[in-house]
Amino acid sequence: MAENPYRLPRTVIPHRYRLRLEPDLEAATFAGDETVDVTVETEVEEIVLNCAEIEIESAQLTNGTLTIGASPSYDEEMERVRLVLETPAEPGAWELDLSFSGILNDKLRGFYRSRFTDVDGNEQFIATTQFESTDARRAFPCWDEPDFKARFEATLVVPADSMAITNTSEVERKDESDGRVAIRFAETMKMSTYLVAFIVGPFEATDPVDVDGVPTRIVAPRGKLGLADWALECAQFCFRYLRDYYAIPYPGDKLDHIAIPDFAFGAMENVGAITYRETALLIDPAQASQAEKLRILDVIGHEIAHQWFGNLVTMSWWEGIWLNEAFASFMEMKATDAFRPEWKRWLAFTAVERPWAMEVDHLTSTRPVEFEVRSPAEADQMFDALTYGKGSAVLRMIEQFIGEETFREGVGTYLRRHSYGNTVTADLWAGLDGASEWPVGDIMDTWILQGGYPEIEAALVDGALRLRQRRFLAIPDETDDTTWKVPVRLRGEAGGSTFESSHLLDDEETTVPLPTGVEWLTVNAGGSGFYRVAYSDDLLERLIANLADLDPTERYVLLDDRFAAARAGEAAMTSVLGLIDAFSDEDEQAIWQLVFRILGWVHHHLVDDGQLDAYAACVRSVGEPLVDRLGRESKPTDSDLTRRLRGQAVGTLGSLGRHPETIEWAQSTVTQYLDGVEITDAEMLTAALGVVAAQGERDSFTAFFKRFQESSNPQEQLRLLRALTAFDDADIGREVIDATIDGRIRNQDGSWVQASLLGNRQAGGDNWAEVRRRWDETVEVCPPMTFRRLAEGLPALSRPEVAADVKAFFAETPVPMADKAIAQNLELLEANLLARQRETEAVRGWLETTT
Ligand SMILES: [Zn+2]
Repeated sequence: MAENPYRLPRTVIPHRYRLRLEPDLEAATFAGDETVDVTVETEVEEIVLNCAEIEIESAQLTNGTLTIGASPSYDEEMERVRLVLETPAEPGAWELDLSFSGILNDKLRGFYRSRFTDVDGNEQFIATTQFESTDARRAFPCWDEPDFKARFEATLVVPADSMAITNTSEVERKDESDGRVAIRFAETMKMSTYLVAFIVGPFEATDPVDVDGVPTRIVAPRGKLGLADWALECAQFCFRYLRDYYAIPYPGDKLDHIAIPDFAFGAMENVGAITYRETALLIDPAQASQAEKLRILDVIGHEIAHQWFGNLVTMSWWEGIWLNEAFASFMEMKATDAFRPEWKRWLAFTAVERPWAMEVDHLTSTRPVEFEVRSPAEADQMFDALTYGKGSAVLRMIEQFIGEETFREGVGTYLRRHSYGNTVTADLWAGLDGASEWPVGDIMDTWILQGGYPEIEAALVDGALRLRQRRFLAIPDETDDTTWKVPVRLRGEAGGSTFESSHLLDDEETTVPLPTGVEWLTVNAGGSGFYRVAYSDDLLERLIANLADLDPTERYVLLDDRFAAARAGEAAMTSVLGLIDAFSDEDEQAIWQLVFRILGWVHHHLVDDGQLDAYAACVRSVGEPLVDRLGRESKPTDSDLTRRLRGQAVGTLGSLGRHPETIEWAQSTVTQYLDGVEITDAEMLTAALGVVAAQGERDSFTAFFKRFQESSNPQEQLRLLRALTAFDDADIGREVIDATIDGRIRNQDGSWVQASLLGNRQAGGDNWAEVRRRWDETVEVCPPMTFRRLAEGLPALSRPEVAADVKAFFAETPVPMADKAIAQNLELLEANLLARQRETEAVRGWLETTT
């Protein structure tokens, strides 16, 4: 800690901040006063704290008898101010008084301004905050490090007709005689600065619901409260579920969930005042798809999980952020799964979050989940697939290995032991080690402190199972001899009965005895292991012959492992295309989603332009029987996932399969929708929008864009925005990119919208040229922390001449806010380029013989 120049000196420790903030929404400025109770530990001549884009007007230190003046000296690069004291201050208790002023920026961080158009067409302003990782210092001078925990008591002076929200309940309000009102809020618990929040503006709130003693509200920009019911239902369930899981009372005095029109992240877990982007909170459930409702449930579960894990117990420094985010992501799955078991959240986790992490983590440019962080810029880059995805996946792996109840006990011990304090990762392992027979800390260190994951080769040798591990890489490297302590769970059938066993593979190779007469076995029982499995040919054949005996997650990882192996050159992609036939009787939406993903990936990277018709016929041969089986109309008996699967199947049939009747159906559905006819099945509407967009017609684009601009429903806007990126046409791509820069598309969405455009099969290269041409403007308007999303579009650009241009561009264009993500996605691009060179010929031959 001492060597890190970004850490503040520990000579002065804050305990309590009394803050008064007066935001001026029109002028985009604010004025503030604060009194901080501090302890001076050793005699000091200056006080150093964080401060950025703030002007300190006066500063003094008092202890009741003595007052010492102080003058500010700013260090902009380090985002600090040194308050140089007129005379040294003795050790003891002091009060630091500061007056200051600052700006409400438009960068979606610190104290910033968001805007929206109300129902009467008037532009309205909101002042709101986003402090994580290190932007509280843009709202008030403070010790802006997570282990400087303190109490906060805020007074907000705001227009009388505005709503003002912070971490705690309102306790007093006074008229200010100038049309404003000063609202004082209760003192918070002892907490980190990054969890403080202030939100001011024309909001409205649901009546508080008493959730076991905790008032809970959904807050939305005026006019949008009609979209709050689903969020309120999710919030109540998740709150109770999580509190019961942790078995610790909620540490705050109320809990608000607030929708913000401009928001860089998905949501932020501020103590008692969780902020969300609108699409992560507001929805009309009657017109929403399962995925849209799930997204809201997920985010709410995640942010409430943080109220204990992260807010009550907090990492000491930013390298511990993985634990915070991984754990909240893990708990989000548990809460969601409990609320809607029929949505099979853990299967969806295996189909979405786990592969998202595995995609980055099979690169040499991956990083350990826990990674040294020194500067704020490095802290901001930690919010990635490894922190959220791999972190939660390896927690799931160890939970399933040691047992759910054992895991829960260990977590409870950890939280109770460290309440209101700060921790390092080893503290959690200590809690789990106390509860489990297995050496949890030793096992987890190999997954957390080193990057990557293994592939386990499984083969039968003399009636026993030989397991061998080696690192699995997108571009294989025989010289890499990293190993992991792999918690392996076996399950299979022998002599007509099933068997299960757990093993710790902590060497390169081990042999496991098996019962006699093994018919089949899986080396990743339940599919929760964060590793790939390469079965010997005979074991693979037995698995394929017994697919129905595997659980859905096991079937999923079997197919996904084969697809990953083919992409890495360990198997032929045509063998994966052949394997899809074995899944023709499959019922699980998540597994079909993988089939469609494989078909889409092959279409994008491996199919020659001259063979698109042949490939479409191949897609139809997969999609038509499925759609025939599901029917084209929803039935009252359909589960939500069946309805979702129908939408995805019809969408794939129409876009990749170019199925004429499906295209016709989509066009007529979209025409009705644009004419104002209510389409009640959101899954089918989403499918129809995608199919029509895939036709690339300019008139459709114009109509979609108009509807996008007119809509005030955040879910509808998002649905249309996705469709706008699916028109595979360079002129349209150029126009969409222009809209991300001139503000017709909100800056919060610019990065992912541009990334999606790079994924167009024909126009992707031209879209890249346009992204490149307008790079500086994009950097200017899009929030820095969203650039990772833009990087995620690069691997699609695998045509050799485009890939070369991409690499050349980033070789000379530094992107400090996302350099790690850029490096990772360029490596993935390289792997895709190699796969294209290696596999295109074979896919051509395969298409000639199968169609
Ligand atoms: Zn989180």
